[in-house]
Amino acid sequence: MAARSKKSASPGMNVFEVAQAQLDRAAKAIDLDPDVHQILTQPKSELIVNFPVRMDDGSYKLFKGYRIQHNNIMGPYKGGIRYHHEVHLDEVKALAAWMTWKSALLEIPFGGAKGGIKFDPREYSKLELERITRRFTHSLGSNIGPDYDIPAPDMGTNAQTMVWMMDTYMNSGAHTLKNAVRGVVTGKSLTSGGSRGREKATGQGLVYVLQEWARERGFTLDGATVAIQGFGNVGSHAARILARLGASVVAVQDHTGAVFNPEGLHPKRLAEHVRLKGGVAGYDHATVIDREAFFATDADIFIPAALEMQITGETAPLMKCKVVVEGANGPTDLEGEEILQSRGIDVLPDVLANAGGVTVSYFEWLQNRRAETWTLEDVDRRLHTMMTAAYATMRRMAVERAVDNRTAAYCHSLNRIQTVYRERGIFP
Ligand code: NAD
Repeated sequence: MAARSKKSASPGMNVFEVAQAQLDRAAKAIDLDPDVHQILTQPKSELIVNFPVRMDDGSYKLFKGYRIQHNNIMGPYKGGIRYHHEVHLDEVKALAAWMTWKSALLEIPFGGAKGGIKFDPREYSKLELERITRRFTHSLGSNIGPDYDIPAPDMGTNAQTMVWMMDTYMNSGAHTLKNAVRGVVTGKSLTSGGSRGREKATGQGLVYVLQEWARERGFTLDGATVAIQGFGNVGSHAARILARLGASVVAVQDHTGAVFNPEGLHPKRLAEHVRLKGGVAGYDHATVIDREAFFATDADIFIPAALEMQITGETAPLMKCKVVVEGANGPTDLEGEEILQSRGIDVLPDVLANAGGVTVSYFEWLQNRRAETWTLEDVDRRLHTMMTAAYATMRRMAVERAVDNRTAAYCHSLNRIQTVYRERGIFP
């Protein structure tokens, strides 16, 4: 690996400290009221539950689950549920705060939350996953609800997980209210009350903002090259949509390794391989590369779509792209960001670039409330309008305040949140 940058801004900082530093930077840029700033430094509530689940062999295992509710001044708490063996309190706190900024940036009437269970879902059977999900939902009890806190899928969870959550929640309350509480989670299957376009929404939204960036820069996506880290929901949908626009996905890395093909990997075929084999390793229309070579891929566009803290003092100096489009939450640490800036690499930050997911979740929640079913064209058109408006707001703020894109996005969110705190005051 290349040597670390001497101007180290974040080595040793954990993900929550990075999120705090990002908030502090934007607070300074807009001279945020210190009282509002203080409130936003910590989540409103932190729920940790330890719950037992029966395994297929009859034994019981104890699981640790989290639901962190960062802020709800703009509307009900909203944010995903992550199943991953590295889930920890500070990670979920950071992810919850990022949801607050994201909803406020997109001007969606939601606050921010996040949750998760610390375990590797790949090691459990479908029946065990169902029992873990249902018991977790039961443990959350009235801490979630369609007007209070609305979970959605994130890493390691999907539409099936959400349908189990919805069903458990529905069956825990009055049976006459069953259909009134469908909106307790979003990201459900279409048949159980989901929205058209929700599955691809994060990848689709990412491509919409990338198209705005390309227009502003006079860059053509047709013929552009792309490297993607993570080939799950976000990475694989972004790849498929970009391929349809004529871009060529040349490198993909996931938890099983990295593959490269200068002629372009076939996103649909690769997604099918991942579905069958569990990862990109073993895909035979490509050569295997290591992590260092993956970050050094000669590609115009780099899309992190896996874990946090991937673009760092070690990896950022290797990167050759023109733009980083953050599909993942928090993929770039402070040092990585400084290096990208100094090298003239643009960053489309997570709170904007992956906001397509929460935006279509909002559409799903609206459809559930109104008992409506929108067409895919309608969903995509509305998503496009909201993503391009948020991109324009971010860029206007970046130019006005002479700040980077991430700080600009935060500035807009914080301004909106501050206005509401000023209007409402602090009870009592
Ligand atoms: P997913 O579970 O569908 O896929 C995760 C991917 O990350 C997989 O390809 C996995 O192999 C890869 N991965 C895991 N560990 C890795 C490692 N150590 N190195 C390289 N790759 C690794 O998850 P997803 O829903 O696509 O979420 C990916 C990211 O996007 C997360 O940061 C999530 O918070 C963010 N996000 C997701 C949504 C959504 O709607 N699903 C919305 C906004 C943001």
